[in-house]
Amino acid sequence: MIIIMKPNASQEAVNNITTTIESRGLKAHLSVGTQVTIVGVVGDKTLLADTNLELADGVDKIVPVTESYKLVNRKFHPEMSTITVGNTSIGPGNLTIMAGPCAVESQEQLMETAFAVKKAGATFLRGGAYKPRTSPYSFQGLEEEGLRYMKEAREATGLMVVCEVTSMRALEKAVNYVDMIQIGARNMQNFELLKECGKAGLPVLLKRGLAATIEEWLNAAEYIISEGNERIVLCERGIRTYETSTRNTLDLSAVPVIRQKSHLPIIVDPSHATGVWSYVPPLAKAAVAAGADGLMIEVHPCPERALSDGPQSLTFANFEGLTKELKPYASLAGRTFL
Ligand code: PEP
Ligand code: MN
Repeated sequence: MIIIMKPNASQEAVNNITTTIESRGLKAHLSVGTQVTIVGVVGDKTLLADTNLELADGVDKIVPVTESYKLVNRKFHPEMSTITVGNTSIGPGNLTIMAGPCAVESQEQLMETAFAVKKAGATFLRGGAYKPRTSPYSFQGLEEEGLRYMKEAREATGLMVVCEVTSMRALEKAVNYVDMIQIGARNMQNFELLKECGKAGLPVLLKRGLAATIEEWLNAAEYIISEGNERIVLCERGIRTYETSTRNTLDLSAVPVIRQKSHLPIIVDPSHATGVWSYVPPLAKAAVAAGADGLMIEVHPCPERALSDGPQSLTFANFEGLTKELKPYASLAGRTFL
């Protein structure tokens, strides 16, 4: 449940409420808005049955929160969150472009791509060092060597770097090299890994599971936030449907749905959603029009030679063309990017 304080409630009244909640063994989370303060209560609310909180000084009303996710719920935090990562921020007003190869393949490939995507307007370099491949015989990633190249590319370009982790061991290594941790679709419900990401101290990009509902996805985010890490960005990357013309089906409705249900920023990945490079630009534009806070796009110096996801990767020229074309869409949506 949430306790909405009156606009003129004193700090003392707010403190009294949080003290009562915590004295019963529940957790109180404050959301201090420009107009009102909201106290979110997490835990078994029957323990508050005899406290008459609705009559307490400064309380306007108490609203039950029926959803199973609480701290990521917009009812707990009505203002949109902006997630800061190094010198950039993801949230209202910005269109954050994350771009780079599916997999880090070599130092040269990554460095060349990093400079190209930066020139075209990206602020994040993406690149997988631990690749969750369908076949165990496909390229699995350069692991720590790949993380090292990501860090070198970051130092050379000033781009923030985001890298997927597929295990606790990968997470332990990645925190030493990257600015943001990515949890991929296949691990969206790896709850132990989510909890460790909650404790790792780095922002997390949480992709939607291959067949996850929005509620399951928000509960996955709740696992991270409930460990104390509020810096979470959601990424819609397509879901499994009966359609086979595209790799997945981009669920663009997730953007307004998430906007209403959660305060967390949401970006869209049209590359993994479609699996076909020529479908990426129209869906990137549609995502911006739908209100996405950013895009994740796969870019490769030579897609036909890519060790993974070549068919969906844009060339440097195509990526630059896309970012140019995105400018008017971004400005119509009230967003700016470099
Ligand atoms: C990726 O971004 O490299 C990736 C594997 O994506 P997803 O988890 O969405 O399949
Ligand atoms: Mn990929």
